[in-house]
Amino acid sequence: MISFELSEEQKQLRDLARDFAKKEIIPKAAEYDETAKFPKDILEKAFEVGLLNLCVPSKFGGGELSNIETVIVTEELGYGCTGVATSMMVNDLALTPIVLFGSDELKEKFLKVFTKKYTTGSFCLTEPDAGSDVAGLQTRATKQGDYYVLNGVKNFITNGSYAELFTVFASLDPSKRHESMCCFAVEKQPGITVSKKENKMGQRASDTVQVVFNNVKVLATQRIGKDGEGWLVAMKTLDKSRPLVAAAAIGVARRAMECALDYSKERSAFGKTIGEYQAIQFMLADMAKAVEASRLLCWKAAWLLDQKKPSTHISSMAKCFSTDTAVKASIDAVQIYGGYGYMKDYPVEKLMRDSKLLQIYEGTNQIQRIVIARELLRNYSFFY
Ligand SMILES: Cc1cc2nc3c(=O)[nH]c(=O)nc-3n(C[C@H](O)[C@H](O)[C@H](O)COP(=O)(O)OP(=O)(O)OC[C@H]3O[C@@H](n4cnc5c(N)ncnc54)[C@H](O)[C@@H]3O)c2cc1C
Repeated sequence: MISFELSEEQKQLRDLARDFAKKEIIPKAAEYDETAKFPKDILEKAFEVGLLNLCVPSKFGGGELSNIETVIVTEELGYGCTGVATSMMVNDLALTPIVLFGSDELKEKFLKVFTKKYTTGSFCLTEPDAGSDVAGLQTRATKQGDYYVLNGVKNFITNGSYAELFTVFASLDPSKRHESMCCFAVEKQPGITVSKKENKMGQRASDTVQVVFNNVKVLATQRIGKDGEGWLVAMKTLDKSRPLVAAAAIGVARRAMECALDYSKERSAFGKTIGEYQAIQFMLADMAKAVEASRLLCWKAAWLLDQKKPSTHISSMAKCFSTDTAVKASIDAVQIYGGYGYMKDYPVEKLMRDSKLLQIYEGTNQIQRIVIARELLRNYSFFY
């Protein structure tokens, strides 16, 4: 039986996140965007009310939310500010490899740190010359007795300046690409330095930096998964996190639509409110249908993950469709506001800048289309 009715618990969770976005995120979002200030105070409050580290099992003190519950929460956080939501989501991105592939010892060691007090994590996959083609990464992991030694540069790392834990992907032999990739849980230490802080177009509250690993020693027991399993760890993690990016994008699109709807009832031109013109109504209608369709895809991806069924194709569809929706809806919202939409006095120009990044990170939307087509050609039976 299919039901779109949320349970009482899910409604409470949604309302908690919605309230948090309205009271804690939205009032500060413009200032943090303008100053590119890291929202540590907001993240600490999110930790206190249980809105951080959603993927961590209850055994280790976490909320152990289902994937459906996680996307419900993330839509509300994205509605508030995607810069803040990204900072929050990346904690889950850093911890998911440990949750999915970590030994009990690793889970005990790292997950509990995150659930005991507010702690920041980073997910270090991208490199200056390996973004979409991530199997081409050059960061080296060299085995030395009970340790691995890591050397390399990671690019565009969210939360990198503040992280206590870095989930790092490195290769035993870069010429072997996917086959020799490994993943490690690495604590902050002197060999890890930030070499560049990025000055971004949008999502400016999130911290994005280049991180250098210089002879960083990691205990062999802190490898996540086996030698050569790093590619699988990365792909399974992204399958799980892409619906979250979709959910944040739905939040942005919904916010753009609500702003545009309100404005179209207030603003008059040629003796009528602009909402009475069909040209404006069609933009609003397109926003509403795209938000609904995006949410259906996003919830289906989350449901498949919860059922432990193949979800790669729908996770990619949800990420791609919802983030395209967020960009279109926010551009149309600026159009509906006219000249005022272009000004920082109104909220929609920020939504337009913030939304663009959603089409780029966690695999660009070109890469999502490649994944969908590959799955389509490989096993069409997954689709229907
Ligand atoms: C603000 C920000 C935060 C980020 N946070 C993180 C993070 O926390 N951790 C992390 O590991 N990474 C992070 N990233 C990196 C992000 O995931 C990459 O930027 C993204 O995967 C694209 O890689 P690239 O920038 O090297 O672009 P490239 O791979 O160089 O791509 C350039 C263009 O070519 C296209 N392209 C590439 N290959 C193909 C192909 N085969 N077919 C068609 N088109 C193709 C791409 O779609 C894109 O349009 C972040 C990026 C940004 C901008």
